[in-house]
Amino acid sequence: MKTLILATGNPHKVKEVHAMLEEYDFDVHLQTDFFCEEVEEDGLSFVENALKKARFASQKTGLPALADDSGLEVEVLGGEPGIYSARYGEGYQGQPASDELNNRKLLDALKGLPYKQRKACYYCAMVFVRHATDPVPIIGVGQWCGEILMEPRTEYGVGYDPIMWMPQHLRSASEIPLEVKNQVSHRAQALRQVLQQLQQERL
Ligand code: IMP
Repeated sequence: MKTLILATGNPHKVKEVHAMLEEYDFDVHLQTDFFCEEVEEDGLSFVENALKKARFASQKTGLPALADDSGLEVEVLGGEPGIYSARYGEGYQGQPASDELNNRKLLDALKGLPYKQRKACYYCAMVFVRHATDPVPIIGVGQWCGEILMEPRTEYGVGYDPIMWMPQHLRSASEIPLEVKNQVSHRAQALRQVLQQLQQERL
């Protein structure tokens, strides 16, 4: 069994990724068990940010590390909020960023637009490094698309899920059971790509 550091402190991501990794032969540890600093996410892409997080976690622990960076791109907004998805609502209506405020700001930005102009995609980059200076990181990128609703469908759900309609499922992302989300999401796709490459390496 191979030990791996999961480079995230976000409990929702831990739940999703942990469940997926369990099917594989990994002894998964959380970075929060080793250190609490976070790297600055100043890359221009999801891949750069995920790579930075993975290298940092590996450097801190001396172990292989897996990190992700993700966000939502809305076509009509030229790809916003993109890499700034987590902080999109910061300062909106004088409030600190929160999932609810991010969603409110996005709904306001799209106010009055019909569904055909509300196309949006989640993206996730998942990066694995064998050690902190690994020159050949393993990279997976996943995409999961839908439409931004006119109003939240649920009061529960992580991030943008309550306002993200997934046409293939006829539900908002927040209404899709976690077992299903873990098969089809941007994060699931990206992780699967990384695991497939890792498995080939072990053959
Ligand atoms: P990260 O922690 O830098 O990857 O930021 C990701 C941000 O993108 C989160 O704070 C959410 O706002 C959004 N996001 C990414 N993946 C999802 C998802 O599966 N559901 C809802 N929001 C997501």
